[in-house]
This record gives sequence, C-alpha cells and structure tokens, in this order.
Amino acid sequence: VNKPKVVILGAGYGGLLTAVRLQKLVGVNDAEITLINKNDYHYETTWLHEASAGTLHHDRVRYNIADVINRSKVNFVQDSVEEIKADEKKVILSNGEVTYDYLVVALGGESETFGIKGLKENAFTITSVDSSRQIREHIEYQFATYSAEADKQEERLSIVVGGAGFTGIEFLGELVNRIPQLCKEYEIEQSKVNIYCVEAAPMALPGFDPGLVSYATALLEKKGVEFNIGTAIKECTPEGVLVAKGDEEPRLIKAGTVVWAAGVRGNEVIEKSGFENIRGRVTVDSHLRMPAHEDIFILGDCSAVINEENNRPFPPTAQIAMQQAVLTAKNIASLIQGKNDLKEFTFDNKGTVCSLGEHDAIGVVFGKKLTGFSASFMKKVIDNRALFMIGGIPLVLKKGKFNIF
Ligand code: FAD
Ligand code: NAD
Repeated sequence: VNKPKVVILGAGYGGLLTAVRLQKLVGVNDAEITLINKNDYHYETTWLHEASAGTLHHDRVRYNIADVINRSKVNFVQDSVEEIKADEKKVILSNGEVTYDYLVVALGGESETFGIKGLKENAFTITSVDSSRQIREHIEYQFATYSAEADKQEERLSIVVGGAGFTGIEFLGELVNRIPQLCKEYEIEQSKVNIYCVEAAPMALPGFDPGLVSYATALLEKKGVEFNIGTAIKECTPEGVLVAKGDEEPRLIKAGTVVWAAGVRGNEVIEKSGFENIRGRVTVDSHLRMPAHEDIFILGDCSAVINEENNRPFPPTAQIAMQQAVLTAKNIASLIQGKNDLKEFTFDNKGTVCSLGEHDAIGVVFGKKLTGFSASFMKKVIDNRALFMIGGIPLVLKKGKFNIF
C-alpha cells in the first residue's frame, strides 16, 4: 500500500510535539512518519541561557528523541537539512534525500547579526547546546587564565551582553549568580569582574510592562550589571565591542567575552530553499501552510503568524510553536484520514515570564503581573509543562525543575 509520507524537519518544540501528537492520532498503516533532526537529542531552547552561564549542566537541558517517540510509528533520521525543493516535494539532507506528501518545517531560529562587523567572528550566541557550552567554557577559561597569568589582564573578566531582550535579561540573571561561584573557585575578587549590558532601544525589554522592567534592571544592577541603554553595538573586535549612543563617536568596551543576544531570524534553510520570507520567516496562511504550497506546514521560529491587532507577526516563542504543533498534528491527521476539516490557527497568548536567575523572575500571566517568588514558581511550572506536553509525567520526573525554594 502507498501510505502518505509525512516528513517533519526539526525536533524542537514545534517539530517534536507535532511528531508525538501525530503518532497518537494516526494508525501504523495510515501514514509513514519521518522525523529528521541534526542531533539525536532534543534540547530545551528556552533553558539555554542557564547552560550558557553554567548554572545548569547542559545534559539537564536535553534528552534523547528516542525516549519520547513511538518507534513503530515514527522513523527518526539523524541528519542535517540542507534545502527543501518544494516543486519536487523533496528535502536534501547532508547524507541523502527524502520525498514527502506532507512536510512540516520546524527548524527553529538562528542569530540575526544585522550585518554588524565582527560579530560572527568574535561574539558567542545562545542558540544550541554546543554554542551554550562554548560560552560557559570560554568564560571559565578566561577566569582560569587570569588566575594563572603573571601580568593580570582584567579585561579578560569583563563580559558584554548585547541586547536586553528576554534572552539577554535571562542570561544576565544566571550570570550574576554564576560569577560569585567562579570568583570563589579561581580566588578572584568580585570587584574585578565587570558585566555590561548594551541595549539600543530606549529601555530594557522594549514594550514590556515598565514597572516589571524596573524591577528586573534594579535587581540585576544590584548584583553588578552595568546597563548601557539607548546604546547600540556597532562593531565587535577581538578586544571587545564598539558602542555608540545616538550620533556620538563610538567607544570601546573591552571584554574577554561578548555574547550577542540581540536578535533572531528563521533558519537559513528557508532562504536557501528560495521561499518568500522576512528575516528567514515565512508568513503562513491561517492553516500554517506556505502560500501556494498546501503540502508544506511551517511552524515555530521559521514561521510568521500575523497578529491582526497590530498587523505585525507575533514574536517567535516556544509558546506559539507548541500551539502551532498541536493544531498541525490534528490537521495532518485529518488530511491523511480524508476528513479534510482543517482548523484555523489562533494564538492564545497566556503571557510571558522572564526569569532573573534561579529564584527570581518577572512576568505577566493571564493578564496578571508577577514578580519574585510567584513569578519564579510560574516559570518552573511553564518549563515543566513543556516537558509534560512532549514526554508526559516520566519526562517531567526525569528532567523537571523542582528546586522551588
Ligand atoms: P527549536 O525549539 O529551536 O528547535 C529547532 C530544532 O531544529 C532543533 O532541535 C535543531 O537542532 C534543529 N535543526 C536546526 N537546523 C537544522 C538542520 N539544518 N537540520 C536538522 N535539524 C536542524 N520562548 C518562550 O515561549 N518562552 C520562554 O521562556 C523562552 N525562553 C527562551 C530563552 C532563550 C535563551 C532563547 C534563546 C529562546 C527562548 N524562547 C522562549 C524562544 C523559543 O526558544 C523559540 O521560539 C522556540 O525554541 C522555537 O521553537 P522551534 O520549534 O521553532 O525551534
Ligand atoms: P529580541 O529581538 O526580542 O531582543 C533583542 C534586543 O536587542 C532588543 O531589545 C533590541 O533593541 C536589541 N538590539 C538590537 N540590535 C542591537 C544593537 N546593535 N546593539 C544593542 N542592542 C541591540 O531577541 P531575544 O531576546 O533573543 O528574543 C527572541 C525571541 O525569543 C522573542 O520572541 C522573545 O519573546 C523570545 N524569548 C522569550 C523569553 C521568555 O518568554 N522568557 C526568553 C527569551 C526569548
């Protein structure tokens, strides 16, 4: 029998949740489901700031894909996607190719450097398990080197975080807890460590509740972060970053570590495949399909869903990626079963919680503002919920966050 072929690209929030939902909705004889991912593990992208700072071990943020899929229904292929040939219904992988009847593209995002000179060469980004390990190990290497060298170079200990969006702020929240540990370990006076955050917009977390933003910046400042607001990174060099406020002459902030957390774009595969896109994101129709290609569903950071209230795309989040996955699994099952009663996507925004280290956070949940313990508790509930949605109770027990106090 010729079973319809469903191919899912990417095993992040969007792709893996689509796979585990679809495996429950269709029978073994109904479809041939293939899940393709670069690594044999899934990682919690939303926890990578912790692995990057070194406050959570990188093995805690990942788990084996094989542990959550039903291998009698989903065929897992570990490979890298190079290009999608939509007209030929074919995906080119590093080590082969696959054809499909229905394709789900959920390859996530990557860092957007806006063409700023030197960033690609000299700055780190929080985008994968390996990039997070590089950051953690680089910072530690700088501390160890400072401790060992005769001619002490204090700039080694300086860290610049580019961007005070949610990623930048969450990373800073971890960093301020990690630095005292590192100082103790390497017998370095904490006053020698400088942490700078450079944000181009007139406020940190632009657009978020100003009272909550003040709570976050005051807490981080108290723990040693120097905010440079209304200041843009213009260039990154091996010595540090060149920054400027408005039209002022650029000045150099020397730093041994620069982390660029100032923007994301969709996966490069989108552009390489010649899909119409804005910063690597495809504006999808109400069923999350690519215009003119009804067999291609695009989810998560590779997709843009327009918010009709302001005519702009919703920000790329795990929250929206998971909601898209739940709907896409249902819609593909419906197509396979010949029901063809496709449902339209509407985003149900439950709110945003931004962590400020292990025991503090800010957030707006169901329209209610939260700070401190209640926000931090809520953040762990959200983190555990993502595990639950994909791997049920066993995964929550294995990987969940229970360090409430
Ligand atoms: P991802 O979950 O990133 O998964 C993409 C997958 O595709 C990965 O497994 C990757 O390895 C794989 N892949 C990539 N390229 C290829 C290729 N060429 N071939 C094969 N496989 C490939 N959002 C929230 O809603 N709440 C939060 O609290 C939150 N916190 C965040 C904290 C940080 C530090 C960061 C960086 C982001 C955060 N986000 C948060 C945003 C959120 O993580 C993303 O929007 C979400 O991960 C997007 O899901 P996705 O399925 O599109 O991609
Ligand atoms: P972002 O685009 O939201 O923020 C980037 C920040 O960098 C902006 O404030 C921008 O003004 C600033 N910036 C841009 N260019 C700059 C320059 N040259 N110099 C200095 N600053 C500059 O990116 P992000 O924080 O990585 O977030 C990406 C997505 O992930 C968003 O949709 C966000 O909502 C989501 N996210 C959510 C959470 C959460 O819910 N807790 C956490 C992290 C990320």
